[in-house]
Amino acid sequence: MTLAPLTVACPECGSRDVFYSCKPECCFNHVCNQCYTTFELETERVGELQEDITAPPDPDPSAPTAPCARCGEYKIFAMDGMLPRSAQYLCVSCKALLALSITNVAKGSLPREGQ
Ligand SMILES: [Zn+2]
Ligand SMILES: [Zn+2]
Repeated sequence: MTLAPLTVACPECGSRDVFYSCKPECCFNHVCNQCYTTFELETERVGELQEDITAPPDPDPSAPTAPCARCGEYKIFAMDGMLPRSAQYLCVSCKALLALSITNVAKGSLPREGQ
């Protein structure tokens, strides 16, 4: 099993050029660098990891992140392994298995057709 930093695709344009624009003490607002859509990430606890893990180094502060649904920490990593697709994220603080979802999508302010 390997842990990788979180990556998310923009819900509007699909770009992975997404960065975290705020601080965990405030909110989990992310911005797409392509279309300026903003959105928040949230997690839902779907299980518990049984095996021991070595916590990877803290992620880049501007990399996408989300709060753990259980402990509120934001050390969430993507898991490569044989888990079901719904449980592919791990909180390295409390070892909760998490499903990630996107919420509060606000479309970017770039000019669009029909506006
Ligand atoms: Zn986008
Ligand atoms: Zn946790």
